[in-house]
Amino acid sequence: MTPVVTLNRVTKRYGDLVALDDVTLAFPRGRFVAVMGPSGSGKSTLLQCAAALDRPTSGTVVMGGTDVGGLSETSRTELRRKHAGFVFQSYNLLPALSVQDNITLPLRLAGVRPDLEWLGELVHRVGLRERLHHKPAELSGGQQQRAAIVRALAARPDVVFADEPTGALDLHSAGQVLDLLRELVDELGQTVVMVTHDPVAATRAHDTLVMADGKVIDVLAAPTSEELAVRLTRLAGEPVT
Ligand code: ADP
Ligand code: MG
Repeated sequence: MTPVVTLNRVTKRYGDLVALDDVTLAFPRGRFVAVMGPSGSGKSTLLQCAAALDRPTSGTVVMGGTDVGGLSETSRTELRRKHAGFVFQSYNLLPALSVQDNITLPLRLAGVRPDLEWLGELVHRVGLRERLHHKPAELSGGQQQRAAIVRALAARPDVVFADEPTGALDLHSAGQVLDLLRELVDELGQTVVMVTHDPVAATRAHDTLVMADGKVIDVLAAPTSEELAVRLTRLAGEPVT
């Protein structure tokens, strides 16, 4: 099966700084992939290039069969709308809009009629049916993040990119969000790419990419959180206790 996104020899520079250094990889369909690594190792840059939010300095990114590099800003936005959903650490819900209006906003902006059956199914899965007419501030952090996940999935994207989706949540809510992401992969065949600094969170993924200095240095299949913790502690140059 063709991967959802492929990167071929992707380098991203900011001036003299090499944020992403000659990265080649593919995100296969229906997998849950975690991306870990020390702060500054290029995780968010990898996500932004893979998600067509940004353009690499060199190399190619192919999403939905299209080479992102040659596209105008407008065409890249259209490509993202069609293929990618996003979840960030901050939920980015608009405070003045109800949960329901937040969820359907990207569709309305894109001029796409919401698939009400699909949205109903998602809202039911994330347990927000009774909260649709509330404002985000009336929801817990976990509920807001689950609303953001529904929003990311509303257009049935090929891939959901999540950058530290549990970073602002307490342990219990984080667990619920991770369970939900895993369930979407297992039951709906969703592809998820998640940046996280939490080894326990990463164990919910199928594979974990470990980054250092802009490179993917390891691809680990179903590592334990202890293995990941040791790997990351070493990378951070701290003694392993
Ligand atoms: P991570 O998400 O792993 O913490 P990032 O991908 O955000 O790392 O950053 C990788 C490197 O690129 C860091 O050294 C960071 O300071 C740098 N960087 C990221 N974005 C920019 C930018 N817009 N301008 C300049 N430098 C940047
Ligand atoms: Mg980051």
